[in-house]
Amino acid sequence: MNAPPYPSAASDGIRQRHPGVDGGCRTVLHLEAVTKTYPSQSPVTALRGVSFAVACGEMVAITGPSGSGKSTLLNLVGLLDRPTAGTIEIDGQDVGGSPERRRAAVRALRIGFVFQSFHLLPHRTALENVMLAQVYTGLARRGRRAAALDALAQVGLSERTGSLPSALSGGERQRVAIARALLNRPSLLLCDEPTGNLDSATTAEISSVLEGLHRDGTTLLVITHNPAVAQRAQRRITIRDGYLTEPPGPQAAAPDGARHVQG
Ligand code: ADP
Repeated sequence: MNAPPYPSAASDGIRQRHPGVDGGCRTVLHLEAVTKTYPSQSPVTALRGVSFAVACGEMVAITGPSGSGKSTLLNLVGLLDRPTAGTIEIDGQDVGGSPERRRAAVRALRIGFVFQSFHLLPHRTALENVMLAQVYTGLARRGRRAAALDALAQVGLSERTGSLPSALSGGERQRVAIARALLNRPSLLLCDEPTGNLDSATTAEISSVLEGLHRDGTTLLVITHNPAVAQRAQRRITIRDGYLTEPPGPQAAAPDGARHVQG
C-alpha cells in the first residue's frame, strides 16, 4: 500500500510523525496513575490509578463488564475527557490534561476512532465518506481521494468505493468506517465495541480486518465485550471496578520495554 500523505500539524506545535525515520517503534500510548472521579454529591471514581502502555504496532483488547470503566477509559485515551489525576501521553507527549484546543488537534491527527455505530453519511458513497475524514487537514482533494482509495483498499473494499452505505452489508459499512479512521494515518486506532452491531459471521469478518491491520503495523486499542474479538488481540487487559489487570503470559514484549499494567 502506498502511504497516504501526512496531515499538516498546522499551528498547534504538534510534531509530525515520521515512522521509520526517527527510530521506528516507540510507545504510542502511556497512561500513568490515571484516576477519574466524576464529581457529584456522591462522587464516583470510575478509574483508580491505572497505568499501562501500548507500544507501536501492538493490538490490545480491553474487556470488562458494564460499569467497569470502559467508556471512561475510552474517553480519556481518546482525549475526549481529562483525568482527575495522572498523565496520558500520546506519542510521548503529555496531552491528557491539555486544553481542549490542543487535545482536539492531537485527536484529529493521531487518533482514529471506530465506533459500534458506523456513523456514515447515507447519501455519500463509501469513497466520499472516507474522504470526508480529511476535510479539515488542508490536503488537496486529489490527495484526499488517493489516500481514501488506499484506505479502502487496506480494508478490502476497493470494489465498493462507489456504493452508498444502504447498498453495503453491515460488515462492509464498518469497513468503510475503519477506512475513514485510517485516513489520517493515526498513531492509534481506538475501537469502541467495533462489532457491537454485527452478527457472529460479520464479527469474524471485522475481527479479521482488525487483525490484518495489526499485521500491517497499525497500533490498535479495542474495547469490546466480545471474547472472540478480544482473542484476536496480542494483549488482553481486563477492567473491573476501575482497576486494570493483564494476565502474565507469552505476550510479545513492547520494543522499548514500556509494557506494564498497574491498577
Ligand atoms: P462502562 O463503559 O464499563 O459501562 P463507565 O465508564 O461508563 O463504564 O462507568 C464507570 C462508572 O462511572 C460507573 O459507576 C458509572 O455509573 C460512572 N459514571 C460514568 N460516567 C459518569 C458521569 N458522567 N457522571 C457520574 N458517574 C459516571
